[in-house]
Amino acid sequence: MPERRDFSRDHRWLSLNTATVRKQGDLAAIIEACARLGIRAIDPWRDQVATIGLSRAAKLTRDAGLELSGYCRGGMFAADAAHRAEMRDDNRRAVDEAKALNAPCLVLVAGGLPQYSRPGSAPSKDIIAVRRQVEDALADLLDYASAAEMPLALEPLHPCYAADRACINTIAQALDICDRLDPGRTGRIGIALDVYHTWWDPQLLPQIARAGKQRLLAFHVCDWMVPTTDILNDRGMMGDGVIDIPSIRAAVEAEGFAGYAEIEIFSNTWWGRPMQEVLKTCIARHRSVV
Ligand code: ZN
Repeated sequence: MPERRDFSRDHRWLSLNTATVRKQGDLAAIIEACARLGIRAIDPWRDQVATIGLSRAAKLTRDAGLELSGYCRGGMFAADAAHRAEMRDDNRRAVDEAKALNAPCLVLVAGGLPQYSRPGSAPSKDIIAVRRQVEDALADLLDYASAAEMPLALEPLHPCYAADRACINTIAQALDICDRLDPGRTGRIGIALDVYHTWWDPQLLPQIARAGKQRLLAFHVCDWMVPTTDILNDRGMMGDGVIDIPSIRAAVEAEGFAGYAEIEIFSNTWWGRPMQEVLKTCIARHRSVV
């Protein structure tokens, strides 16, 4: 295994995706808990920011000395004609919010079929057309985001979400799009690599090498449970499942990635435990098994 940074002595490079404790408190409570435990970065979700207000979220983050490792999330690009303008405006607002929060990138999930991506859209089974539409909408958003100097991080999701969340399912697919939209590898667009979505991919290591530092904008960790009892909300705490997280982090860092390892766990189990306990477990596992 290539060298990787030593996380065993502190949690300097732990970022908390705030969905991990979304059921235990609002964003203000999460920021307060992070500050208390010496967590130095977060990746908040748009709905959590909206609940307490954008300017308050920005101020609390700043006052707590927290950095962002990303802003979740834009995308859901597939829409029928009647919902396309709404989709475009919504994504532009996400860029503006990311800017106001001083995020290093806006995380994007492509969207699946239009009826799930943008509810109310006319149903379609044409995933090939949907993928084309996603790329067109992404190209449009890239113009807007580039003007705002906000990098876009496209997150490929596990194929089990192809219908309802993302028709971009492999790193190769995401990188192909990045290469078409940004052949110069300018840093305006790259990927968010989440071990949950990519650990199974036979092309994982070569595609991480292909991505390189310029395309690796975010790195998300959790674990894959066996059995997985809920396809969306049974992600594991690092160390409880089957993903060889240290090897993946080593591969990412071998390319020069030196940012946060962001913990992102959607789990009915962990949402049922006190925030403090979850965060302390995150810190301990970050030191020992990430
Ligand atoms: Zn993720």
